[in-house]
Amino acid sequence: MLDQEAIIKVNNLSVSYNGKIAFSGISFAAAPRQIIGVIGPNGAGKSTLIKAIMGLVQADEGSVEIMSQALTKACKRIAYVPQRNSIDFDFPVLVEDVVLMGRFPHLKWWEFPGKRDYELVMECLEQVDMVDYRKRQIGHLSGGQQQRVFLARALAQEAELFFLDEPFAGIDMTSENMIMKLLKDLRDRGKTLFVVHHDLSKAETYFDSLILLKNKLIAYGKKDEVFQIDRLKEAYDGKVATFPGKEQLMVVNS
Ligand code: ADP
Ligand code: MG
Repeated sequence: MLDQEAIIKVNNLSVSYNGKIAFSGISFAAAPRQIIGVIGPNGAGKSTLIKAIMGLVQADEGSVEIMSQALTKACKRIAYVPQRNSIDFDFPVLVEDVVLMGRFPHLKWWEFPGKRDYELVMECLEQVDMVDYRKRQIGHLSGGQQQRVFLARALAQEAELFFLDEPFAGIDMTSENMIMKLLKDLRDRGKTLFVVHHDLSKAETYFDSLILLKNKLIAYGKKDEVFQIDRLKEAYDGKVATFPGKEQLMVVNS
């Protein structure tokens, strides 16, 4: 891929927490208009990588370039759906207010949300089939419903670049299918999405490209190039197997 086609260029990026390395020496250039899966075992540095790309954690060395002018000039074009277990749900906030927060980056500090903002909130709630829940407290919803609300907030932000951290963890199949369909729609409308994910069985069907991590970059590229047993074994400490009659690679828990 030619560099000028890239939407994000990561050069020799390293991050550590109090001297302990989360990952080191990561370089890749990501093409736009695709769903990029960030995969690897627990503690591989997946969450840290997307946070470092967004500038939410500081790198020890290396750089991240966001190529599109529109993006560098406007953080509001970058939407982030954090890992659900990192969010405090005791805070009493209504579903519609969570989605409305997606509009705040577009408002000047003295502006209140206007008619168009409220309309957009309803449109985004419709897209995730959560209109009937708009007056509920976010903490009272199921995991899948909460995830759909956070996706609606990202949609309301009208972003170009999306980062989702384990959006399918601990949610029902209906929500998972709905979210995956929406992510593919966004991709087809020209958006670029990074999705952190740990379930290998879905990685090939869900994503266009893969970043395989294990505290360093094991592989990056089109999903077929990355999804090779030797590479997966390297990332998952050899705990990967193919099952007879099942054309799937699985992590063997032991
Ligand atoms: P993943 O998302 O792949 O599970 P993380 O990026 O969360 O991995 O973590 C990578 C490594 O950094 C792990 O060893 C983890 O314990 C450590 N780590 C992550 N966040 C912090 C933090 N805020 N403070 C200290 N260590 C952290
Ligand atoms: Mg994580």
